Amino acid sequence: MLTLHRDSRHGLRIAPRWPSRHIQIDAEVLQRLLDAQALLPAELRLLLTRGFEPRHSRLGGFRRLVRRLGITLFRTCYPQRHDEVDAIFGANGHDIDGRHIDVSLVLHGKRLRLLPLGVFTPPRWQDRRVARHAEAVVRVKHSLQHCGFELHHNPTEALQIHCDYRPR
Ligand SMILES: [Zn+2]
Repeated sequence: MLTLHRDSRHGLRIAPRWPSRHIQIDAEVLQRLLDAQALLPAELRLLLTRGFEPRHSRLGGFRRLVRRLGITLFRTCYPQRHDEVDAIFGANGHDIDGRHIDVSLVLHGKRLRLLPLGVFTPPRWQDRRVARHAEAVVRVKHSLQHCGFELHHNPTEALQIHCDYRPR
């Protein structure tokens, strides 16, 4: 398991999501992310924001608290999307090992905010944002999939971009 701090290596950016100061991932996962980055044009960068977050840590406790508040708010905002709560607010493997990561996109030096309101971004806004950056989003997803990453089945979580490393 590797511990990464805010950095840029071979085009891949690393920016831990607040309040985390570092990201833990498997060495093999980092290598495959670098492979995925190498398939992309220079103006398009992957930005790693989350990896392994042990359940019994201060960060794990913080994420659980945020999740609980988030679920309450999400249920209020989107009463018809109850069936998505698990997919969106589950730990999605981040508490298991360093093979579950969240990635963002940087296009021409600017981070693409596909979810400007996080998971609370209304689906219609999500569609609009994705349509605006469709080419970049599709390229990134293809290159990640090509390198052994599986994208999350939930559309909102997939924009996070949550993926699981599952080499075939
Ligand atoms: Zn995730």
